[in-house]
Amino acid sequence: MHDVIIIGGGVTGAGTARDCAMRGLKVLLFEKGSPGGATTASSTHLIHGGLRYLLYDRLTTHTTCWDSGHIIRIAAPLLRRLPVIWPVYKGHAHGMTTVETLLEAYDGFQRMKGGLPHLRLRPEEALRLLPGLKREGLIGAFSFDEWWVDPVALVAKNLDSAARHGARVETGSAVTEILRRDGKVCGVAAQGAEYPGRVVINASGPWADKTARMAGLRIPLRLQKGTHLCYRERLTPVGLILEAEGGCRYVFVIPSEQGTLVGPTDISAPADPERIATDPEEISYLLASVRRYFADFPERYDSTIVGARPILGQSGSEKLLSREFEVFDHAKRDGVEGLLTIGGGKLSDFRIMAEAVTDAACVKLGRAVPCRTARETLEGGLLAERLSFPKPWRAAKSFLRHHPYLRELHALAYLGTGLARHLAREALGRNRDSTAESFRKLYES
Ligand SMILES: Cc1cc2nc3c(=O)[nH]c(=O)nc-3n(C[C@H](O)[C@H](O)[C@H](O)COP(=O)(O)OP(=O)(O)OC[C@H]3O[C@@H](n4cnc5c(N)ncnc54)[C@H](O)[C@@H]3O)c2cc1C
Repeated sequence: MHDVIIIGGGVTGAGTARDCAMRGLKVLLFEKGSPGGATTASSTHLIHGGLRYLLYDRLTTHTTCWDSGHIIRIAAPLLRRLPVIWPVYKGHAHGMTTVETLLEAYDGFQRMKGGLPHLRLRPEEALRLLPGLKREGLIGAFSFDEWWVDPVALVAKNLDSAARHGARVETGSAVTEILRRDGKVCGVAAQGAEYPGRVVINASGPWADKTARMAGLRIPLRLQKGTHLCYRERLTPVGLILEAEGGCRYVFVIPSEQGTLVGPTDISAPADPERIATDPEEISYLLASVRRYFADFPERYDSTIVGARPILGQSGSEKLLSREFEVFDHAKRDGVEGLLTIGGGKLSDFRIMAEAVTDAACVKLGRAVPCRTARETLEGGLLAERLSFPKPWRAAKSFLRHHPYLRELHALAYLGTGLARHLAREALGRNRDSTAESFRKLYES
């Protein structure tokens, strides 16, 4: 009999398996494909704070920066600092003042994840760093940084760590049934066999609703599909964030040792993740978005990746969807004991998601063991106490997820203060333009 059976071996399930095993629980994880091979592999590969969420969902930026600070410590060998340049052109939806106000606000969160302060560059300095960048209309640029990660390796290392702490991992094995006895969930069926378990955790990302339906339950999901173009070569020296065709969205160009990613798109997707595929319009949109700024950017890409963001159901515009995560205790919510679902969230806060659902499993099992996943590296090394930053307030986050108008007001009030601070700094001559040399010095140090 296992204490916990986890359905799904993406980053959420793998992080959960590690946390449960480190707390001494007997764990069994099922992954129907290859670990991390679904949404996690199709991400933009960034452990990031979600800069754009500052416009409408500040607490998500706080949470992802806060947890990213833990992730960069426990998974350091898998991460690389990625400087990102944001060029601003005449006629862009966000001009220099908006972008700098946003980045000044972000600087405050960046400290949580070892990020460096932003720089402001004149057009000629940006062109020295990016000689292929379109000159016409360029009014300036900014730099900030995020962390690039190999997401599949991150999943593999979490599972290795879980296995070292005693977890059993079954890959290529789909759970086909959630077993119930006297109304209570008591295990799962997979590969024609039954596996008894005290608690079952549904960590199946965009499949969370499909999995919950095996127990006759529903999880509200609003899937948003995202495609990237993949190139085998490293095409730019730094990361880029570019205002896309149409002016409302942004496209990243992410170079790494593995090549270059261009994307993602963000489009409402079918409810069944198996039916998600890249459309030709997404490819044209991504190519047009990047070739607006780099006329020589190759049209011929090597492959595409596509996945669906497992966003929790909520009202409001597609562009303003909260990336908040939630632990659903189906005993409290639906009267079905023994089943938990962890839904929503990001790659960048997978560790705190795992902690939250493992806490809930421990309560059910009557095992009050504290979480240690932030204090031990994925390789098993012990970490010194970290500089403590204020933890995001979970209750406020959950409340604001259901109130998009208040969530936006909360973010705008914060940015309003940021704008006042920015204007004061400008008036006092504190905001200075940087050179290509200072950019290089900052990111090489
Ligand atoms: C285009 C795009 C870009 C993104 N970029 C970023 C980014 O840069 N940074 C960031 O922080 N976040 C990013 N995200 C979000 C992030 O990728 C996801 O939040 C995260 O990877 C979800 O992980 P998961 O484990 O919940 O889901 P998944 O990785 O999809 O894992 C769920 C797993 O469950 C398995 N499964 C399903 N049903 C069963 C079953 N019955 N039995 C066994 N196994 C089953 C699936 O095979 C799958 O492997 C992005 C998302 C998308 C789509």
